[in-house]
Amino acid sequence: MADDPGLPAHAAEWPRNLDITALLGQGWRPVPFQEFVLKMHSRCNLACDYCYIYEMADQGWRRQPRRMARPIVDQVAVRIAEHARARLLRHVDVTLHGGEPLLAGVEHLRYTIETVRAACEPDVEVRFQIQTNGVLLDSPVLELFREHGVRVGVSLDGDEEDNDRHRRKRNGDGSFQAVREGLQRLGAPAYRHLFGGLLSTVDLDNDPVRTYEALLEFEPPRVNFLLPHGNWDAPPPGRRADTSTPYGDWLAAVFDRWYRSPVKRTQVLLFEQIMGLLFGRPSTCEAVGLSPVAVVVVETNGEIEQVDSLKSAFDGASGTRLHISRDPFENVLLLPSIAARQIGELALADECGRCRLREVCGGGHYAHRYKSGTGFRNPSVYCHDLQRLITHIHAAVSADLEAITARNDHTGGGSKSASRCRPSRKTLASG
Ligand code: SF4
Repeated sequence: MADDPGLPAHAAEWPRNLDITALLGQGWRPVPFQEFVLKMHSRCNLACDYCYIYEMADQGWRRQPRRMARPIVDQVAVRIAEHARARLLRHVDVTLHGGEPLLAGVEHLRYTIETVRAACEPDVEVRFQIQTNGVLLDSPVLELFREHGVRVGVSLDGDEEDNDRHRRKRNGDGSFQAVREGLQRLGAPAYRHLFGGLLSTVDLDNDPVRTYEALLEFEPPRVNFLLPHGNWDAPPPGRRADTSTPYGDWLAAVFDRWYRSPVKRTQVLLFEQIMGLLFGRPSTCEAVGLSPVAVVVVETNGEIEQVDSLKSAFDGASGTRLHISRDPFENVLLLPSIAARQIGELALADECGRCRLREVCGGGHYAHRYKSGTGFRNPSVYCHDLQRLITHIHAAVSADLEAITARNDHTGGGSKSASRCRPSRKTLASG
C-alpha cells in the first residue's frame, strides 16, 4: 500500500490508504498535469474575511517567503518543460496566483513569464493567466499582459455594498471602487481581449439577481460563481445540517435570470458545465463532474502542493512534502492525494455512488467533502444544494427541448434531431 507523505500524521484519513499499486495493476494511469499554479506572492493587499488562505484551517502562508525568488522560478520553469516534454503535451496553462500575484511587481512577473516561456517553447506552448483582486491593475501591468497575452481573471462579489461586506482592505475600507477602476482599465480597447472573466463567491446575504446584474456592468466574457469553502467539520455560512437548499436556491435564481435572458451577455461556467454534463459531456472544472483534476500548485518557497482550496479542510491538507528543487512533477502524480482527484467514481462516498446525480454532481468540489475521521470520502457538504441546482437546470432544459420537439412535431419537421438533443436520462439514472 502506498503511503502519502502529503498528509500530516494526525490525518490518517482517506485518501491516505488509497492503494496506488493496485490501481496501476487494474490499468489506471495518472493524467499528466496540464495546469501549473504559481504562487507569485504569498501575501495579499486585501483582508477578505472568508479567504481560505488566511482565514481558515491552514496557516501555512505564515511560513512562506513573500515572493517566489528567481532561483525558484528558474527551477519551476525547468520542471514544467520537463513534464510537458515527457508527457508529449503540446501546450500547458500557467496561472499566476497568490495571495495577490500583482504584489510580486511587474518586472518579476515579466521575468517569470519569459523564463517559463524560454524553457518550454518552441515545442510546448505556454498559455498564461492571472487571478487577481484587481486593485493593482494599472497600465504597466496591463502592457506586460498585452505583450505576453496573459488572460486576466478578477474576483468581485457584486455591487459596492455586497462586495464590500467581505472584500475589504486591511484598514476596513471597501475594495469595490479600486477594483472598478482596475476593471475599467482592463476594459479599455487595448486590453479588453485579455479579460478572462469575474470570479464571484456566493453570499446568501446578497440578492442573487442583483449580484449577477452588478457583475454584468463590467461586461465579463465569463462569470464563475464559487461556493464558499467549507466542509462537514466547518460548514459554510448558512448551510445548516438539514435538507434546506439555500445555496441551491440562490444559484437557481441566477440561472433563471441568465438562462431566460433573450441575449446571452456572458457565459456562466458552473451552469454551462452542468448543462454539458447533463448531455453527457465531460466537465472541465473542479466544482462538478467526475473528470480528472490535472492541476498542481507551487508555493513561493518551491514546495509542490495540491490545489489550495484544500487549505480550508485542515492544516497541511494541501501539502505533498515534495519540492521543486528535488522532485519532478512525475513524482507528484502517484501520491494518493493527487490520484484521488483522478479516479472518478472510485473516489466517491458510498452515498454518492448510489446517487442518481453522481455523473453530473461528481460529489461536488473535493474540498467540500471533508469530515474528520473519514477524510475526503463523503458527499459534499453542499449535497442538497447541488441536487436542487442540478435538477432545476435539468428541468429547465428538458422543458425547452420538449417545447421545441412539440413545435417541430406540429410543423412536421426536426423532431428527431430535437429528441436526440435531450439531456441524457442516463446521467440522472438511479444507481
Ligand atoms: S448530489 Fe450529493 S449524494 Fe449525489 S453525488 Fe452529489 S454530493 Fe453525492
